[in-house]
Amino acid sequence: MNREMKVQMSGILENQALARAIASAYVSQADPTVEELTEVKTAVSEAVTNCIVHAYGSDLGTIKMKMQLFDSNVLRITVRDFGRGIDDVEKAMEPCFSTGADDRAGMGFTIMESFSDRLRVSSKPGKGTKVVMERKIVKRG
Ligand code: ATP
Ligand code: MG
Repeated sequence: MNREMKVQMSGILENQALARAIASAYVSQADPTVEELTEVKTAVSEAVTNCIVHAYGSDLGTIKMKMQLFDSNVLRITVRDFGRGIDDVEKAMEPCFSTGADDRAGMGFTIMESFSDRLRVSSKPGKGTKVVMERKIVKRG
């Protein structure tokens, strides 16, 4: 069985906390450790923050988040935006690469990668970006 949930939210900074809370509630059904829960929330924050900050800038856009939990206890989270997109995904994913302001470390993708078993990023300039994160949740106890 594939338990699936989809949410759509506006790309405002306040929704970063909401996305964390939704991810936390969703992954709880997989019986995660505290560490797993924290890591999933952090990865989701990074993905959603990127949509808000980079995809839309000062424009108001839409973010879609899909969460799936498979029988194998593999969690898949897909975060999509319909903003400016990324010209060179490979370069954008390098540690410390950022087109943002000085307060951006360029570590978002690196964090998502380290908290996932598998990270896929696809993007079309002018159309938007899709980030798919997968990880197995190892049950407690
Ligand atoms: P940090 O996440 O450490 O605050 P950052 O957001 O710049 O800094 P990453 O999250 O690794 O670092 O993203 C790297 C770069 O990829 C960004 O600076 C931006 O140019 C581009 N990028 C990431 N996500 C998106 C997106 N959803 N839409 C457009 N560009 C993006
Ligand atoms: Mg980032």
